[in-house]
Amino acid sequence: MALLPVGDALERILATVEPLPTVEMPLGEALGRVLAWDLVAKRTQPPAALSAMDGYAVLGTDVAQAPAALKVIGEVAAGRPFAGKLVSGQAARIFTGGVMPLGADTVVIQEYTERDGHTVVIRRATEIGRNVRREGLDFRQGDKLLVKGARLNERALMLAAAMNYASVPVVRAPRVAILGTGDELVLPGSDPGPGEIVYSNGYALAALARHEGADVIDLGIARDRVDEIAGAIRRAQELKADVLLTSGGASVGDHDLVQRALKAEGFTLSFWRVAMRPGRPMMHGTLGLMQVLGVPGNPVSSYVCAFLFLLPLLRKLSGRADLAHRSYPAKLGRDLPPNDERADYLRATLEDRGDGVLLATPLQQQDSSMMANLSRADCLVIREPHAPAAAAGSPCVILKLSL
Ligand code: AMP
Ligand code: MG
Repeated sequence: MALLPVGDALERILATVEPLPTVEMPLGEALGRVLAWDLVAKRTQPPAALSAMDGYAVLGTDVAQAPAALKVIGEVAAGRPFAGKLVSGQAARIFTGGVMPLGADTVVIQEYTERDGHTVVIRRATEIGRNVRREGLDFRQGDKLLVKGARLNERALMLAAAMNYASVPVVRAPRVAILGTGDELVLPGSDPGPGEIVYSNGYALAALARHEGADVIDLGIARDRVDEIAGAIRRAQELKADVLLTSGGASVGDHDLVQRALKAEGFTLSFWRVAMRPGRPMMHGTLGLMQVLGVPGNPVSSYVCAFLFLLPLLRKLSGRADLAHRSYPAKLGRDLPPNDERADYLRATLEDRGDGVLLATPLQQQDSSMMANLSRADCLVIREPHAPAAAAGSPCVILKLSL
């Protein structure tokens, strides 16, 4: 089977999914969720003209020149409006957030005034309209302020609350079941026997999924036996996982263990083997409603595959409008040889040289098992298939690894 280009692989994955159903979520629990509908303001903010400062509400025409003596006829604090109406020659004591009394259009800050009983002397001329937040300055009822497909961050939550939403319609969080496979794998903190290695990649895969707002189901490690793998697959289905992410069992010899187990359960393969490095044995298909991504066992490969394919898949399921990773232009920090037919995702450090240029320097060793190097990397330098040799200083395209 010919290797599938990375872009085609992503397209095939995304083509099979629609956003999950909508649920109503209390605002306090909605951080990181994705809006299922546009949200329009249920009220106008500020609801009336308010003072932006502590001082005196006046008629602007009375304070165009200073000094000016005005009669103080009342007081306004936030939440405690003043019922009266000001006419020329009058002022009302006002505090930040206080509703502007009828007739008043300007606030003179208290630092520019002197109070003497019922009289206030304005010491500095103040422009008409100063220190007043007009009604609707922030937004008006009916304004569309938060849009479908946006992930709710802390500022969006603040805004939604001000728009008077106690709960918001969001897309249900995807459930991702993660399964490691391999006879050699033992959990971190144990005492590995000869030939055993520590199960590591699942921690990164789970963290990536959680970062996208997914709920993670840890299926643990299945031995390299079809029945064990099949048992884990059935567990993922019972737990109603939206996505099953398997790792390992991907080298030619044992790859079909995962695929064989999946097929026994009714799996439909969409593709296997992608023109990329690391990550060639990457696989995708569906089992009933469940999406299945099979990534290679080598930790760096599993990470790069999850970064490139799992994250956009989760974003689509989550209803996000922005699915693709943003790429950035950079300059190469060292010479690179010509590339072969597979797209290369080189682990690289990134240096901001302060002149607006990012310098991406691929690490010397790019073996797909090297986790220390992956951890050191800040970005992936993308090398297209058949890219010619590139000298240090020439332009390149990167994906930042920080999410
Ligand atoms: P596989 O894809 O199963 O052929 O595994 C490729 C390489 O990755 C082998 O050296 C495995 O020992 C290693 N490997 C597989 N799964 C994991 C895992 N979950 N954590 C760390 N290394 C793994
Ligand atoms: Mg294996």
